[in-house]
Amino acid sequence: MHASAGPVVVGLDVGGTSTNATLLDASGQFLIDRMVETPSCVLQGPEAALDALAGSVEQVLSLTGTDAAAVRAVGLDTPGPASADGVISSRGATNFSLPAWYGFDIRGALEARLGLPVVYNNDGNAAALYAHVVHFGADAFARSSISAIVGTGLGGGVIESGQVVKGATGTAGELGHVHIPLDGLLADGQQVPKCNCGFSGDVESVASLTGIVKNLLPYWLTRFDGHELAAVPIDKAARLVRSYGERGDPLARAIFEQQAMALGRLFTIAANFTDPHAFFVGGGVVETVPEFRDWFLGKVREHTVLRREQSETVTFSLVPDLDMAGARGAALAAQALHP
Ligand SMILES: [Zn+2]
Repeated sequence: MHASAGPVVVGLDVGGTSTNATLLDASGQFLIDRMVETPSCVLQGPEAALDALAGSVEQVLSLTGTDAAAVRAVGLDTPGPASADGVISSRGATNFSLPAWYGFDIRGALEARLGLPVVYNNDGNAAALYAHVVHFGADAFARSSISAIVGTGLGGGVIESGQVVKGATGTAGELGHVHIPLDGLLADGQQVPKCNCGFSGDVESVASLTGIVKNLLPYWLTRFDGHELAAVPIDKAARLVRSYGERGDPLARAIFEQQAMALGRLFTIAANFTDPHAFFVGGGVVETVPEFRDWFLGKVREHTVLRREQSETVTFSLVPDLDMAGARGAALAAQALHP
């Protein structure tokens, strides 16, 4: 923890169970170097959640000995779907399932509660912005990137000239629901995977934990007769696949190669669409031992088809500090608007 004499912005990464908070000073230095989590109280509805967020702000200020008067703005992120300015979907969202959340303007409500400007991003976009700024530093505003973060679903974001591309309704960068070609990706007899969004054969249907549970693991168990994971309930087995992958298990590597191929095909589309300077990969699949992480990133690169000019300039890298990337990216977005 560090103290700052000058102006600061707060970053709040709100999840279904907890909020992680951080503090950023005017020189671009984060004053918090670890997770600072408090219960998000999201499941108890908006009132309780807003009280909890105000408490999270107080906590980071007190931990760093920062005066409340030094706070210029607050960066807020939540899981989607929500509008570009932080109105939760009118149909609710996985983590905002109480009817009181439907169509709720969480950004505006927090702004009123705190009496400070609040800048909103969804969690994937906030993490993408953080990866971009860490990677490019002083050149961030002159560079573009695409981040894909493999978790329960597939999140991420599109950054252009250092800015999050949000789109007309806030749903730009929903990379998980981009359709990819499946020729040569699916193995013999493997069904076309279905996504929770209703699409078949989009990126998330393959490159997510949900994709492993619903399609990849059930299929590959039929190809590796007698595999130990066949005896484990599927939800639990899916979470174990990575540890098998780290040990070089052929079934696990087949699953992760399909996921890497799906990301490579997504990046191939992106290369022809916005021609970014960098591709970042994050999530559990790369929060692992170096050998496996490098193997996975190498496979993503191998399956990304680039023009020669692109392959000479583009970089493939990791989303750093993934647990803290959301809060830090939210803070960076707030600072950009309220320097
Ligand atoms: Zn989908």
